[in-house]
Amino acid sequence: MQIDATKTLTGITGRTGQELAWQENALCAQTGPEFFFPAPGSSTREAKQLCGACEGRRACLEYALDNDERFGVWGGLSEKERERLRRRGSAGTGAGPAASETA
Ligand code: SF4
Repeated sequence: MQIDATKTLTGITGRTGQELAWQENALCAQTGPEFFFPAPGSSTREAKQLCGACEGRRACLEYALDNDERFGVWGGLSEKERERLRRRGSAGTGAGPAASETA
């Protein structure tokens, strides 16, 4: 029996394969997790540099914000940076979080 990965993924995440297509070309998948989930106080510079060159950056950041990802670098932003975006977004600035950071 063959498993349709797209349907399986949608069943788990509620998102379609197309919505998660950015993960197929994720540059972080080609590196170790230590860059993207550094120990507290460690630099996130290398991860952010990779994110800057990643074609899925915007979708990645939107995913992290939508799913309240609390740890690691997603879409080029650290936990604290995403938290600031969330607060700004909920304060009614009129600027969407992804639009203001990824342009
Ligand atoms: S933007 Fe960064 S964290 Fe997101 S998929 Fe690309 S390399 Fe990975």
